[in-house]
Amino acid sequence: MNHILLIEDEEAISAALRLRLERSGYRVDTAASGPAGFELALTGRYQLILLDLELPGKGGLDICRDLRQQGIATPILMLTAYGETSDRILGLKLGADDYLAKPFDPGELLARMEAILRRAAPAPAAVLVHGRLRVDLRAATVHWRGALLALSAREYQLLAYFAQHPARVVSREELLREVWGYDESAQTRTIDVHIGWLRQKLEDDPRNPALLLTRVGLGYYFAPPPDEPVKSA
Ligand code: CA
Repeated sequence: MNHILLIEDEEAISAALRLRLERSGYRVDTAASGPAGFELALTGRYQLILLDLELPGKGGLDICRDLRQQGIATPILMLTAYGETSDRILGLKLGADDYLAKPFDPGELLARMEAILRRAAPAPAAVLVHGRLRVDLRAATVHWRGALLALSAREYQLLAYFAQHPARVVSREELLREVWGYDESAQTRTIDVHIGWLRQKLEDDPRNPALLLTRVGLGYYFAPPPDEPVKSA
């Protein structure tokens, strides 16, 4: 869940925005003064900062500049009053990512926030390599020991998920949620069946698997295979 910091001294605006953002699935912290907001922003724990410009104690432009000087790269969306054109330009120069003039449509704010968060999200690695397991997330292919594996769509998604979350216990509930999505017909038993098929295709011994381990009562654990030297002829 994206964690948002809202720095805004007008209580009515702050409360309304907070409610709207929380309803849209964001976790929101608020600060009603410049120094309080700056302190929170310095923690670097937020995915996005909504920043009013006219604030008691420390103005939004100063906050923006000082955060960037402190190496805090959290995206900033400035909330500016109508007519503050020069402030907007200065804010962007000081490192803000976007601005929105008050009064604004909450729908537009949400759209801009989503756009900023999309841009800020780190691009996932296109190819995951664990020893001789190679998962190409763009081509949706898996090579194992140099050979292309023939996988069903679900088997691929399952193996790709493990490859993205190596060396940790993954519960069946997590797999249902993340791999099967909201398919209500899926059951934990379905997962076990797919794991069995994957083990077969990876030639992973079902009684003593080395790759897809069962953690009784907890779920599964993908043990990344070690590098194997390719035998030369
Ligand atoms: Ca204000």
